[in-house]
Amino acid sequence: MASHLANIFGTEQDRVNCSFYYKIGACRHGDRCSRKHIKPPFSQTILLPNVYHNPAHDPICKLTEKELQEGFDAVYEDLYCELAKFGHLLELHVCDNVGDHLIGNVYARYEWETEAQAAVDSCNERWYAGRPLYAELSPVTDFREACCRQNENGECNRGGFCNFMHLRNASPDLVKQLRHGQRLERKLHPPQHQGGGGWEPSKRNRSASPPSRRGRDGEDRWSRKRD
Ligand SMILES: [Zn+2]
Ligand SMILES: [Zn+2]
Repeated sequence: MASHLANIFGTEQDRVNCSFYYKIGACRHGDRCSRKHIKPPFSQTILLPNVYHNPAHDPICKLTEKELQEGFDAVYEDLYCELAKFGHLLELHVCDNVGDHLIGNVYARYEWETEAQAAVDSCNERWYAGRPLYAELSPVTDFREACCRQNENGECNRGGFCNFMHLRNASPDLVKQLRHGQRLERKLHPPQHQGGGGWEPSKRNRSASPPSRRGRDGEDRWSRKRD
């Protein structure tokens, strides 16, 4: 019996635990869900809900695809550099869904749970792009499981209202550059102790990023919450 329960934990057959919360870290029923949302006491993954506001969702948006991608890349780079300060960032994903529980969600997965906890603690003290941030540890471990397979094949008919993740992708070159920057920095300045050994991007590292983007979006989107 116990092993049966362990096998179905967080799956659709599990009548007690919510499979959406377990797999995707967010469920459309929120706190009113009839199944349990068990917040993990430790996790390598953090969730920052509703951070990315896609200008394309604004009906009067006149930006081209290219401008939208450049804008998104700037946000992705900004988030990556900031979140890498708390530790070894393994994955960073941004949702392109439009349903209330997934819109603009940012997920970051670290090598160590202590790094994720440090990121949550710090983000909860801060604002991003003029809005207060909220951060939590998330049960998501496998993003392939959390993502909508149909969407990856261009076949999801639920569109942005899908309850699985539809990710917005940063330009592959940028992602490669950011990963390379983090690797290099960690090699040059190895973390002193496990956890909390983040990448502190300096001006020098920033110059590895495409310069055009920096100039235009150079304003600092981060600030501290006042108490
Ligand atoms: Zn639920
Ligand atoms: Zn979908």
